[in-house]
Amino acid sequence: MWLGIVTLFPDMFAAVGREGVFGRAIEAGVVTMEFFNPREYTSDRHRTVDDRPYGGGAGMVMKVQPLLAAVEAAKQNAPAHTPVVLMSPQGHGFAQADVAKSRSLAGLILVCGRYEGVDERFVQRCVDIEWSIGDYVLTGGELPAMVVMDAIARHLPGTLGNQMSALDESYLDATLDYPHYTRPETLASETIPQQLLSGDHGQVARYRRREALKRTLSRRPELLTARTFDAQDRELLLEIFADRQPD
Ligand code: SAM
Repeated sequence: MWLGIVTLFPDMFAAVGREGVFGRAIEAGVVTMEFFNPREYTSDRHRTVDDRPYGGGAGMVMKVQPLLAAVEAAKQNAPAHTPVVLMSPQGHGFAQADVAKSRSLAGLILVCGRYEGVDERFVQRCVDIEWSIGDYVLTGGELPAMVVMDAIARHLPGTLGNQMSALDESYLDATLDYPHYTRPETLASETIPQQLLSGDHGQVARYRRREALKRTLSRRPELLTARTFDAQDRELLLEIFADRQPD
C-alpha cells in the first residue's frame, strides 16, 4: 500500500517506519511512505504555512494554498482512486470497520493538521474522508495518522508473520479478544486455566470463545447487540448467564 503523508513534521514518522512490525512492512515493501511537506509548496520568502484566523481568536490556521499544492503533488504519485483523508477530531471515529474497508485500497493520502486546524476551504475542495482517533484533541495529526497506518498495515498480506493473529483478535467479529497466558505456568501458586494445558484443540477453542464472549458481555455489551450468534455461541452465552451471581 502506498501512503502519501502530508505533514509539517515528516521526521516524526522515522521511528515508526524503522521499528517493529510496521518497520518490517516498510522493509518488505508491503507499505511505502512518501512525504509531502506543505512548507515546500509555499511561494513567499518565509515559507509561511499558517496565518491568523479571520474573525480573530486564539491560535493560527493552516493556509489553504500550501495544503492544496501538497495534496496535488501527492496525487501525482498516488495510485488511481487514492482517497484524501484529513485527520481531525471532528471526523468519523476511526474503527475496525474502516480498517477492513481500507486494506484493499492501493493508496491513502493522510493529511496531518496542526495549530487550530486547516482552512475550511481546503476541506471542502479536496478532502474525501475525515477520521478522528478519539474524543480528545491532540496537537497535530501525525500521531493519529500513525495510528491509522499501523492499524491498516497489520492487515495487509505479508505484514504479520502469522496472518492468523490478525484474524483472531478484538473487534474482528464484534467480540473482544480472550485472555492470553505464557510461561511460567504457575505464579505465586496460581496456575493458568487448565483447559489451555489439555492439548485438546476443541477444548482450548471452546474455552477461548467462552472467555471472549464473557469479557465482551461485561466490558462492551453493546458490541454483542449488533450481531447474531451461532449455536455454539448461544450455548456458551447461556452457560455464562447461568454462572452469573445474582446482584
Ligand atoms: N481546533 C480543532 C478542534 O477543536 O476541532 C483542533 C485542532 S488540533 C489542535 C490540530 C490538528 O491535530 C487537527 O487539525 C488534526 O489534524 C489533529 N488532531 C487532533 N486531535 C485529533 C484526533 N482526536 N483525531 C484525529 N486528528 C486529530
